[in-house]
Amino acid sequence: MRPINKGTWPTKNNSTKKKVFNDWTKAISILKQRTGLYCHLCEMKMNSGFAIEHIKPQESYPQLKSHWSNFLLICPYCNSHKLATIPKKYKENYFWPHLNNTLLVFDYEQIFPHIKPSDSLTRIQKKRANNLIELYGLRKEATSDGSADTRWIEKLKAYKMAIDRRLEYQSGMNQSVNAIVDLAVQSGFFSIWLKVFEDIPLIRTDLIQRKEFHLLNTNCFDNTLQLQPRTTNDL
Ligand SMILES: [Zn+2]
Repeated sequence: MRPINKGTWPTKNNSTKKKVFNDWTKAISILKQRTGLYCHLCEMKMNSGFAIEHIKPQESYPQLKSHWSNFLLICPYCNSHKLATIPKKYKENYFWPHLNNTLLVFDYEQIFPHIKPSDSLTRIQKKRANNLIELYGLRKEATSDGSADTRWIEKLKAYKMAIDRRLEYQSGMNQSVNAIVDLAVQSGFFSIWLKVFEDIPLIRTDLIQRKEFHLLNTNCFDNTLQLQPRTTNDL
């Protein structure tokens, strides 16, 4: 899962006063600008249709409903899954893309791009990682009516695209690093591209440095671009 940095609480024009988000949908454009056009949870690319996720549910925490720290930018599919499974009280037992190095916390299965907790986590950390996966249905292939989950379809497409580009690149076909990373920017699912190209340093580096993914201000990489924990909980 791509880690994000939402930045400090936005201020009112030319002042140090915090912006009040009585209408929290106003936070969408700021989050898009600061973190890119990708769902903070499933990483699907969207140009419009984003929702604001209240990490601590507004019903139980009304004082946090316009609070910057409580916002994530998510797609309608992650949003509707959460609404169906919403816990009444927030518990501190999740990993989050704005707090943790979610590239260390989450990984993918071998054959299909099913997100899973990293093998290096402890049993309790795996439980925390799985809690987030379950809360937003991040491994779902189908919706409750039996039709395919849009996030899964799009994720499979991105995965296939990344694998094909890798094969072409390795066979010396005309695939420039730039063209491959351009495609990743367009398709979304950054962490899938990073996984597929993790052992090809030229492409890995370009993926991490692409401004559209907003990764260099997340404190998730050291100065040689290797992953580093963001908090003591990440490993
Ligand atoms: Zn999503």
